[in-house]
Amino acid sequence: MIRTRFAPSPTGPLHIGGLRTALFNFLFAKQANGEFYLRIEDTDRVRSKKEWEIEIFENLKKLGIIWDNEAERQSERGEIYKSYLEKMLKEGTAYYCFCTKEELDKEREELMKMEKAPVHQGKYRNLGLEKALKKIEEGEKCVIRFKCPLNKDISFDDLIRGKIKINTSDIGDFVIAKDLNNPLYNFTCVIDDFEMDITHIIRGEEHIPNTPKQILLGEALGFTIPNFAHLSLILGKDKRKLSKREGSTAVSDYLRQGYLPKAINNFIAFLGWNPGTEKEIYSMDELIQDFSINKISKSGAIFNIDKLDWMNGMYIRKMDINELVQKCLPYLKQKEGIDNKKVVEAYKDRLKKLEDIAELTDYLYQDMLNYDKELLRWKDMTDEEIKESLNNALKLIEHADNIQIELIEEAKKAPSIGSFMWPLRVALSGKKASAGPAEIIEIIGKEKAIIRIKQAINYLCLEK
Ligand code: GLU
Repeated sequence: MIRTRFAPSPTGPLHIGGLRTALFNFLFAKQANGEFYLRIEDTDRVRSKKEWEIEIFENLKKLGIIWDNEAERQSERGEIYKSYLEKMLKEGTAYYCFCTKEELDKEREELMKMEKAPVHQGKYRNLGLEKALKKIEEGEKCVIRFKCPLNKDISFDDLIRGKIKINTSDIGDFVIAKDLNNPLYNFTCVIDDFEMDITHIIRGEEHIPNTPKQILLGEALGFTIPNFAHLSLILGKDKRKLSKREGSTAVSDYLRQGYLPKAINNFIAFLGWNPGTEKEIYSMDELIQDFSINKISKSGAIFNIDKLDWMNGMYIRKMDINELVQKCLPYLKQKEGIDNKKVVEAYKDRLKKLEDIAELTDYLYQDMLNYDKELLRWKDMTDEEIKESLNNALKLIEHADNIQIELIEEAKKAPSIGSFMWPLRVALSGKKASAGPAEIIEIIGKEKAIIRIKQAINYLCLEK
């Protein structure tokens, strides 16, 4: 059975890159009727925070990326790691190293001088456990290192990148634990992936250098080695690694702004994956069906916010209107006499994200509009002409039965449609862009509309 996992470190919010890793692992497992596990890698006790763990859980849930296990925490698995460390020390595949920082610095410096890779030479690799334990008893400080096989080629078939090969002489004896109770990432990761029967590891390319180390550890422990797939970086529009430079990278910010989970998933799926067809709008079920590791690109994926805006707009327009109204409520003001459903109906086609509705519709809820009277002017109309046009509108609205149709008829009689519609629309909205006059009147009601038009006429009567 296929089993994947997402293994975030709770040292910050769930970000776009993490979400993509989670989503791809989820899709891959679900497609094969397998399982998707969640593991919290919180061995870094200083940087790991409970609040980030909760944040990650909540955001994954909001996005419908649901894990099949009881989420595991590495901080609660200390005994397991300890017993594996003891086993390795006993078997001699790991050893205590007593090198001081100064010694290590000097070693590195000398290797660099000789133009060699700064790989640790393993001064204590043959000391033997008994002698090491004696030194520890005497109070000497140490760490635990992996005894790396000498001059051995390690290779793996990355499911995205193909064969990746490295020689152990470029790795050296790396540290796997500060002590029995403080194992480090490469070690805990290997133990957990084995203990949790993980078959496929899909993660960011920054982990490529860790993979040979993890394979070596797995081999030393006699574990079955999982399959690996490393995702390319997510880049900003400037082709540099995505960062706050181009807006937020925290998933929660996108949710807060009213990007819909379905749109976010759809968009994120396309960060590196492409079905190779024209189809761009994918439900989660369709993603599960069509997702394929073979179609993931080796080159960097560009995070294009315009595409997310476009996709989100598509999802907003497809949404059932009552559901959309509910989703918009947190962004809308409330006012007696204003039907929020009408507001949403008038504006849903213009929304890139739900949050946009707040600014677009603020004028509907205001008692007095505040705008520059110059905004009322269409082309080179004089104040008198604008006033006349607004007065015509006023009379019409006072008596109209079907405002929409009658406004259009009236506009046709004017020197141009704009010369009638523009001043009226600005009088009603105080904005350069807004819903059309009839829609606004429908929302705010005739009485308020009349007050607003009179207010505009008054503006025009004031001296400059
Ligand atoms: N905790 C690691 C990270 O957040 C995960 C590494 C892995 O997937 O193996 O980058």
